[in-house]
Amino acid sequence: MTPGSSATVPGSQPGSPDQPLRVAIIGAGPAGFYAADHLLKQNDLNIEVDLFDRLPTPFGLVRHGVAPDHAKIKNVTKVFDRTADNPRFRFFGNVTCGQHVAPADFRNYYHQIVYTVGAQTDRALGIHGEDLKGSHSATEFVAWYNGHPDYRDLKFDLSQPTVAIVGMGNVAVDVARILCRTVDELKETDIADYALEALAKSKVKHVVMLGRRGPAQAAFSLPELKELGKMDDAQLRILPQEAALDELAKQQLAENPDTTTQKKVDLIQEVAAAPDAGKSRELTIRFLVSPTNITENDGRVAGIDIVHNELYATDNGTLRPRATEQTEHFGCGLVFRSVGYLGVPLEGVPFHAKWGVILNEKGRVTDENSQQPVVGEYCAGWIKRGPSGLIGTNKGCAIETVQCMLEDLKAGNVLKPGHPTADAAEQFISQRQPAFFTYDHWRSLDEHELNLGKQTGRPRVKLTTVDSMLEALGK
Ligand code: NAP
Repeated sequence: MTPGSSATVPGSQPGSPDQPLRVAIIGAGPAGFYAADHLLKQNDLNIEVDLFDRLPTPFGLVRHGVAPDHAKIKNVTKVFDRTADNPRFRFFGNVTCGQHVAPADFRNYYHQIVYTVGAQTDRALGIHGEDLKGSHSATEFVAWYNGHPDYRDLKFDLSQPTVAIVGMGNVAVDVARILCRTVDELKETDIADYALEALAKSKVKHVVMLGRRGPAQAAFSLPELKELGKMDDAQLRILPQEAALDELAKQQLAENPDTTTQKKVDLIQEVAAAPDAGKSRELTIRFLVSPTNITENDGRVAGIDIVHNELYATDNGTLRPRATEQTEHFGCGLVFRSVGYLGVPLEGVPFHAKWGVILNEKGRVTDENSQQPVVGEYCAGWIKRGPSGLIGTNKGCAIETVQCMLEDLKAGNVLKPGHPTADAAEQFISQRQPAFFTYDHWRSLDEHELNLGKQTGRPRVKLTTVDSMLEALGK
């Protein structure tokens, strides 16, 4: 449904001029903003949106996930600012669903509820040693260097010369880049100041990325791979024998030609043939290897055992990895597990634990027993479809959910809240969390961070504690 094309609803129904449809969106990342935007674009419906986040600041992974050296990607927040300009939009930051407000509470104040909480934890490898000191999830490291208040106090032992990263998606690539960049490169970014300080003292010399499949199945994207070859003082290395495609991969690429994959494979082979550039750090991408054990010394990570894999075709033609007899060990003092994010359940909301998503059909939350839609409850983004895709992918995903919401509204399938007014909701929130942050608060914080950046020659200096944010607002 395009903006303005939604059907009007009869007078005195939610969405009519005299009774707004009240919508709560839980999670102010891209999916939450895109859902809010599409709802507010329905010109012939009277819709009010309250967007909640557990953090005082909006934007979710755009602020705390996108790598600091990817400033252009963060420009998407200008689009979100325009959504927030709408007088029928309100932001309630520093309000945690499940702590200050239960999902059930929202049903008293809103006709529709949308969960856009993302995927807040990470997948485990399931191997011995992954809980040792020195073994971390990449998602923690990402949140740490991006100044996430809940992760700012973590410590990573950057005195280690060798670091292993398991996985070869774009998150693994981000982590590798941040470990390999020079302090001058990092200074030009909005990386958290404590992370800049720690990375300036880093003794890391060699980063090894471990991919379980081959070059043609690498999850990282082509621009990300290109970027790895352009770092100031770190050389990208790939072993020639691992850059070559095996017969199955060659056959699949010949039968299903794909320009992007072909370009990725070509670049991988080019890197493998490149001479040594004499840079002081090295980033090696390994293909067709899986970790089997993280070894320890005195309770700390000391190394990693890996097994070489071969590819086999599944019934649907996907090439999967299978262990061979060939094994290897290398010493490393730090391991980052980067094998995907995972959603966590919200109390009382149907959840598929293995997939880490809310049970849903096109964004309509579904009951785990009857598999029928739960009236008035929806989801969008990673908590709906799993942790895949770029920021823009969430737009189409959120629009699909909003279309279901509009269809249900038209059919009269909405919640019947006892207090469906903006004032009643605000009163309730301020009882539960008096220190909630509004979008105006965020605009002031944004200006404050940009000013701090100007004073230190950086694009922005992030505030990384709730207390420092309250102080900056004079609260
Ligand atoms: P991802 O793209 O799904 O990559 C996960 C990686 O982990 C894959 O290489 C996967 O290998 C590997 N893996 C999974 N289980 C494993 C296991 N048991 N042992 C070894 N390896 C294993 O996930 P992500 O890197 O967390 O990224 C999440 C999403 O955010 C992606 O869509 C990504 O493109 C996006 N993102 C984009 C950017 C950007 O645009 N710059 C930056 C960051 C993230 P297989 O392929 O063999 O399964």
